[in-house]
Amino acid sequence: MTVETATFATAADLLDAVQPATGGREMLDPATGAVVGRAPEHTAADLEAAIAAARAAQPAWGALTHAERGAAMNSAADAIEANAEALAELLSREQGKPLNGPNARFEVGACSAWLRATASFELEPEVLFDDEGGRAELHYRPLGVVGAIGPWNWPMMIAVWQIAPSLRMGNTVVVKPSGNTPLSVLALAHVMNTALPADLLHVVAGRRDVGALLVEHPDIAKIMFTGSTGAGQKIIKDSADTVKRLTMELGGNDAGIVLPDVDAQAIAQDLFWGAFINTGQTCAALKRLYVHEDVYDDVCAALVEVARNVPMGVGLDENNVLGPLQNKSQYDIVANLVQAAKDSGARVLIGGDPDESAPGYFYPTTLVADIDNDNPLVAEEQFGPALPIIKYSNLDAVIEQANALDVGLGGSVWSADRDRAIEIASRIQSGTVWINKHGAVDPRMPFGGMKQSGFGLEFGVEGLKHLGAPQVINY
Ligand code: NAD
Repeated sequence: MTVETATFATAADLLDAVQPATGGREMLDPATGAVVGRAPEHTAADLEAAIAAARAAQPAWGALTHAERGAAMNSAADAIEANAEALAELLSREQGKPLNGPNARFEVGACSAWLRATASFELEPEVLFDDEGGRAELHYRPLGVVGAIGPWNWPMMIAVWQIAPSLRMGNTVVVKPSGNTPLSVLALAHVMNTALPADLLHVVAGRRDVGALLVEHPDIAKIMFTGSTGAGQKIIKDSADTVKRLTMELGGNDAGIVLPDVDAQAIAQDLFWGAFINTGQTCAALKRLYVHEDVYDDVCAALVEVARNVPMGVGLDENNVLGPLQNKSQYDIVANLVQAAKDSGARVLIGGDPDESAPGYFYPTTLVADIDNDNPLVAEEQFGPALPIIKYSNLDAVIEQANALDVGLGGSVWSADRDRAIEIASRIQSGTVWINKHGAVDPRMPFGGMKQSGFGLEFGVEGLKHLGAPQVINY
């Protein structure tokens, strides 16, 4: 069936549009185990066809002006808004995240907002010099076909983070979504494609081998990858033969440092959501919280109070704002890390006792205190609803602990003294440091990691430059 921009599709309409006529892989709701729909299992031949079509469409798209491409992107944003509720419902059922809170409706809203913002940025050729010796200008030309590979935690929003700057810069795109959330990305692209010119945007929903073929393909000019550091390392190796451009948004283990001058009650909500947004399944979530000994007990108590009152449950229930883990392997990672923390003698303030007999991959909101810095729950990325809270007394030593890991995506400093917090931020090795908040992203602020959290930037004008081939004209 066709979903026109003007009509408001239901989630069932979207499923009809993207499911194969027969067969496919059953996708199960992580909250209930119910069948959400059937995902196509695209093959290498499907990938070849998508790349060929995207390649054929690219020159005409690349020849348009920024304003013309921006207008088409705004039409795609209109289409998303017209179908927002259906997209949010499908996302909630397949990914597990609730409709409300900073979850499914919020994610769909971010997709259209990011498209509009990315369409609006100015990127004029830069005049490098212009004097009696001559003139040089720096332009950005389209790269060709971009391959976009994404994770399952924010499947629609992260796909748009990859698609929007690619299209804006005159490229066409082939997306390989996570095998855990293909229907969400297929539905999103289907809705966008009701408004975009034909063949600019393709989704190939295969397993990892399809992703590997995309990475190796000679007609793919660049890979935008968001996912784990391990998969990123493999992609870097596999892309070497074709000397591909890469943007690597990889794993993190963000530290937050709370100074002794804070008001624990006043910051507790923001601390909580910095850590537990999307039930902790967020790349730049607060994953290790270092709290000064003077305010340690107060911060722990205030966080427990918030945690106790935040409802977790099935996503389609309008009351819930925390959901299940998206898949069994992530559930096991979280459960094992919390168990290791308990075994080491750390103190569970709340949670840590999942009901194994209940349906769904629900792990309760968990806060763990009196935990050592070298405990696996601190040192490894939990990517779920379990926050370790580490007590410190010496600021220099805690900055060293925050910087000790080989990842550096985000970090935060919490203090009543903004200048002091800014000075501490300058000593933290991460791509973004927030002050008195954690994890806020904005299409105008470049986002990327240090160390093994990756390289390349997304968002803003800097993000656009990463989707263009720089070309100097000198005369
Ligand atoms: P993952 O690395 O397992 O998978 C990500 C994607 O890569 C999937 O589509 C997967 O099918 C594909 N893939 C895996 N191996 C591949 C290969 N060899 N070649 C081509 N494609 C391959 O990650 P995940 O479990 O889906 O996501 C969670 C991880 O992503 C966490 O570590 C999280 O921190 C990270 N993440 C980072 C950011 C960021 O912006 N830095 C954002 C979201 C998630």
